[in-house]
Order: sequence, then structure tokens, then C-alpha cells
Amino acid sequence: MHRYTDETAWIAAQVETYANDRIALDPPPLDAPRTPAQLAAKVGTTVTPQGIGAKEALRLYVEELAPATITTDHPMFLAFVPGAPTKASILFDLAVSASSMFGGTWLEGAGGVYAENQALRWLADVAGLPDGAGGVFVSGGSAGNLSGLVAARHAAHARRVAEGRDRPARWAVAAAAEAHSSIRSAAALMDADVLAIPDDDRGRLTGPNLRAALSAAEPSVLESLFAVVATAGTTNVGIVDDLAGVAEVCRARGLWFHVDAAYGGAALCAPSVRHLFDGIEHADSLVIDPHKWLFAPYDVAALLYRDPADAAAAHTQRAAYLEEINVSGEWNPSAFAYHLTRRPRGLPFVFSLASHGTDAYRDADERILSVTLQVAEDLRRRPTLDLLMEPELSIVVFRRRGWDRPDYVAWSDRQLADQAAFVLPTSWRSEPVMRFCFVNPRTRAEQVSALLDTMD
Ligand SMILES: *Cc1c(COP(=O)(O)O)cnc(C)c1O
Repeated sequence: MHRYTDETAWIAAQVETYANDRIALDPPPLDAPRTPAQLAAKVGTTVTPQGIGAKEALRLYVEELAPATITTDHPMFLAFVPGAPTKASILFDLAVSASSMFGGTWLEGAGGVYAENQALRWLADVAGLPDGAGGVFVSGGSAGNLSGLVAARHAAHARRVAEGRDRPARWAVAAAAEAHSSIRSAAALMDADVLAIPDDDRGRLTGPNLRAALSAAEPSVLESLFAVVATAGTTNVGIVDDLAGVAEVCRARGLWFHVDAAYGGAALCAPSVRHLFDGIEHADSLVIDPHKWLFAPYDVAALLYRDPADAAAAHTQRAAYLEEINVSGEWNPSAFAYHLTRRPRGLPFVFSLASHGTDAYRDADERILSVTLQVAEDLRRRPTLDLLMEPELSIVVFRRRGWDRPDYVAWSDRQLADQAAFVLPTSWRSEPVMRFCFVNPRTRAEQVSALLDTMD
């Protein structure tokens, strides 16, 4: 009896070898993109009526396609927000795929959903959310922000209807300029406005600023507001909004409090910075991306609701063929975001968290925070480099005296060409500056120091 056809056996062995070899590389190759013409020349056409065969498809992947992507878990990938999945989470991702599990409903995916809910519960606990809180793993912070805000608007609308009031001509969400771009995208998708709240000198949304802006707003603007978005770890500079202050204003005005902690939420389990997040326990909805700083492979974001019933009211899909799942009263992840089919994408994260224990996550996060502080200290010692602000989490932004954007870009390009690092400039208050983001426990301060040497 054969468990495999010969070809399947061959693929299984090759994929296992590739996966094992890949995760053993320390460091993995940084690699770099190629142009469409370069890829066309090397790869050609892969989708053909007869197929090119598994051997050739795998060869193209290993030799041409994978090297044409920048490795996000390289320790010197410091642009955007890197990734750094644990080996356990990467390998378990293969097991999840092999299980053909549908994670949308309890009926089909009970075991997977049960395990995902334990990781969601851990995140709810570190945030201080109440017992009834819960949600779902979605594909990313953008999907989480949109789904959370849709639930918020649905709740606001339902309340207006219950109170016999009219629906406003426009809906609006309040946010500061440093809120993530996905908040503006979500508002645009919802055909809602964004009420811009002035931030402070570090780009923080604060309770007093929010209170003042709302006191000064026209009645029609107040009428249109359904939520306030606070950011717990801005993507650009890594600062945490005044969550307690913002929460208080939301409570006083009956506004939904959405906390976007896609990047920063991982640091909730780091005692040295936990105080920055005080007030997050008041969130009505909260987004944390394990694929950023909780060592999970793409694509996974936790979307948590204080009261999941609000989300189910907004997102439950109804159709004749779905009636059996909607009446059962069981925990259906589909009901908590704008999706139906989903893989139980939280499982690679859960498996790793369960294997290593949450203390290991705390220690890894603290290690990254400490590397960030060492880099900040290093920057302060360099006469040509100016640290722009004390890092709160794991992002440093700094200026190279005398450089303009083309200088930063040219230097960044050279680092990638030399395969030394993947870095990119950003801007702060309209000035081009350099930005490093740390989430990889394998990044060492000495490596970063050597990189900074090349900026002098
Ligand atoms: C990265 C990020 C997002 C978007 O998350 P994706 O997973 O990329 O969709 C949203 N908000 C913040 C604060 C982020 O850092």
C-alpha cells in the first residue's frame, strides 16, 4: 500500500528539506527584488496547459522566486515593520495547511477555533479586557481596523434607531494624523469622514486635545461621530497615545473606543513598558498583529471586541445555506469580521505560544526593547546623528546632519545592494529622517552600530 504517489513523496521530501534548511539559516539571505523583465527572463511562463511538473516548479521557487523577495526575518531588515516568526510557528503552519481545516465556524472548525480562542484570551488578558471579550484572527491590522470600525458604526446606528433619532447625513471617526493609513482607508471604504484631532509634540493623541477638539466641533460633526481611534505604538515613530485620557473622553461622550495596537500591542506583555498602555482595558475593539512583533508568520492579526455581540450584529452573514450555523449559538469566527471562509490562521501563533510559554514572549520582547535603547544610546554618542525622540517601544528615528531625502535613499539603496541591511527613510514633521524598527530577537546592537558607522 502506498501512502503517496511517487511524485507526492518526492514533493513531501523536498518541501521538508527546504523548510528545514531555510529555518536553520542564521542569518537567512537578505535578498532583493528583481524587475519584471529579469523575472520573465529567468522564470518565464509557469502556468501552462500541460503543467511544468513539480520538480521544475520547485526549482523555480527555490532558485529564482524566493531569492527575488526581501527576507523579512533577516536580523538587519529594519524597514517598515519586519517579521520574525519562531521556527515552531513556521513549521506548524505546514501542519495547519495539511489539515484542511475551515476556521469560519464552530461546526466545522471547533478544535482549531478552541485553540485560537485561547491565544485571543491571552491577548485580552494582557490588555485587561473583561471576561466576555473575544474576537477573531483576521489577515492583518488593516482588515482588523476596518472590521472593528464597521462594528462600531453598526452599534452607533442601532443605538440611534433605538432612541428614535435620525441617522446622520455623514458618519465620522476621530483620529490623529499619526494614526495608521489603514484607518483612513477604512473610513473611505465606509464612506465616512475622518475628524482630525491635533496631536502633541510627539504625535500623540491625548485626552485633553480630544476633549478640546470635540468641545469646539459643530453639533453636526458631533452627531456624525461614531468612534475614536487611538494608536498604541504608531508605525512611524512607535509612540503610544494617551489611552486612559482618550478612553475617558469616549466614555463621557458615549463614543466607541477603538485601539489600533497592530504593531505595539505585543509590548503589552513587556513589564518595562506596560504602563504606557494604561487605559487600553477600556477598548471597545482592539487590534494586535502577531505577524509583527509576536513572532508569527503572515498573515495574522487579532481583532478583539469588549462585547463580541456588537461585532456579530454587524458581521454575521445570512443565507439559506448558512441557517444551521447561525442558529446554533456557537462561536463562529466568521461573525466577527467581514469574511466568511478563513483558515484558522491563528494556529501557528497558538502552537508557538503554547510550546514556548508566554514568559518566552515577554523575554523576547524585553530583549528587543533593550536593543532599541542601546541603539538610542549609541545614536546620542554620534556627533553627526541626532536622535529625534526617546524611543517608547522599538522604533528609533534620527537625522543625519546635512542629509536630504536623496542622501537617505542613496544610502539605503547601497545597504540593500551590499546585502548589509534593508532600511528606508521616513519623514517626521515634514523632514526626511532615518527610521529603524526592531522586532527580531536576533538583531544585535553591535550590528546596528556597524551600520551606523557607514552613515558618518
Ligand atoms: C501595520 C499596521 C497596521 C496595518 O496592519 P497590516 O497587518 O499591515 O494590515 C495598522 N495599524 C498599525 C498601527 C500598524 O502598525
